[in-house]
Amino acid sequence: MSACVVCGGTGGAPLFHGSDRLYHTTTRQFDVVRCDRCGMLRLDPQPSPEELHRYYPDNYWFVPDTSAASRLEEAWRRLVLRDHVGFVTEALRQSRASGPLLDVGCGGGLFLGMMRERGFRVLGLDFSREAAAVAWRRQQAPAMVAEFARAPLRPASLAAITMFHVVEHLYDPRAYLAAARELLAPGGRLIVQVPNAASWQARLLGATWNGMDVPRHLFDFRDSDLEKLLAGAGFEVVRRKYFSLRDNPAGLASSLAPALDPMARRVRRVAESGGARLAKDLVYLALVLSAVPFAAIEAACGAGSTVMMEARIP
Ligand SMILES: [Zn+2]
Repeated sequence: MSACVVCGGTGGAPLFHGSDRLYHTTTRQFDVVRCDRCGMLRLDPQPSPEELHRYYPDNYWFVPDTSAASRLEEAWRRLVLRDHVGFVTEALRQSRASGPLLDVGCGGGLFLGMMRERGFRVLGLDFSREAAAVAWRRQQAPAMVAEFARAPLRPASLAAITMFHVVEHLYDPRAYLAAARELLAPGGRLIVQVPNAASWQARLLGATWNGMDVPRHLFDFRDSDLEKLLAGAGFEVVRRKYFSLRDNPAGLASSLAPALDPMARRVRRVAESGGARLAKDLVYLALVLSAVPFAAIEAACGAGSTVMMEARIP
């Protein structure tokens, strides 16, 4: 059986049984088990690296083109990234550490582009060569293709490191946190965002909660689990945010109607006419907008469906 990343326990009881609900990359069934020592959720069995690789579609992230629809989509993506941009800007302002900001798992680099426009020095890192190329071409964000724990970076050289929706995908999140500790300049900040398995969405939706993302999420953190993981790596959490306009309302919409999720339709290459595509996009958008009040209320109660933490080395 897989081991719990927080307490090391190898026992646990199955909670849900499921497969790839969103992208349909496999029909294989997995269990989500609850650790019998600390209560944290994890995927079981863990797929091998070769198998896991097949569950990541190659067109997993957004590449803008010059069409009107694409420009509209980029405008929307910029609008909904403002929680991330605001949170990290505040962390950099508080830290006063020197050096660039590194985004681990930068994808097409839109977040880095927005930070660069605000006057910050930025760097990206991604597994995908194509993503790194897009980050550079479209956002003027220099990005390297590397394994973070072995990235060619000087120790104590970064003002901040961001990992948005990264650690829940890793076999060994602790290796990433140890590398972050090594690379941060004195006073530097680590910002980690994960889906929150203690959220109202998670509790109400159970196996159909989008934040579980079987089989791509190897671990499903509650906010308290993430805090323990960070503490175990020598970090102290100084700030939390439970709302993300990008993630929380859309997560609820995709939980309720995975077949309407635009990224899932793109990844699955669903055949649809222009009219059908527009209609589905509009229904999905209406669902997202109607999910905003619920997402805002659960976040205000400290039970948002994602959590962003700012941490420093005490
Ligand atoms: Zn545990």
